[in-house]
Amino acid sequence: MQPMSAEPTTFACRQCGNCCRWPGEVRVSPEEIRAAAGRLGLTEEAFIARHTQVTRDRQGLTLVEDAGGACRFLTPENRCAIQSAKPRQCREFPHQWRAPEHEHLCAGLREPHSGKEPA
Ligand code: SF4
Ligand code: SF4
Repeated sequence: MQPMSAEPTTFACRQCGNCCRWPGEVRVSPEEIRAAAGRLGLTEEAFIARHTQVTRDRQGLTLVEDAGGACRFLTPENRCAIQSAKPRQCREFPHQWRAPEHEHLCAGLREPHSGKEPA
């Protein structure tokens, strides 16, 4: 966990999709699985089978990535296909957790909100 350099009031997401594109686990709790499965009209069992795999530490489940490391729920328009049910880990980025490389990759962290809406 790193200290924040962009306060929530000055941060504006530029919807670049980079945070959903870089490789890494997106852990999902049973409640998050239930919510995401419901969002997609799937049973929890079907969601687990199609969209999750065991975490590296084998203590839970993470969303499946594509071959390049991007989340499979990232749409071509850089939107989240399960937006209303996306996991807490996703909702809390970048304010609750991040690594040093995130500042380079996240346009919203590099360019704090100026008061104007992004293009
Ligand atoms: S679940 Fe949605 S917000 Fe989370 S990494 Fe995947 S596309 Fe991004
Ligand atoms: S990397 Fe930053 S600016 Fe880009 S979509 Fe994620 S939070 Fe928004």
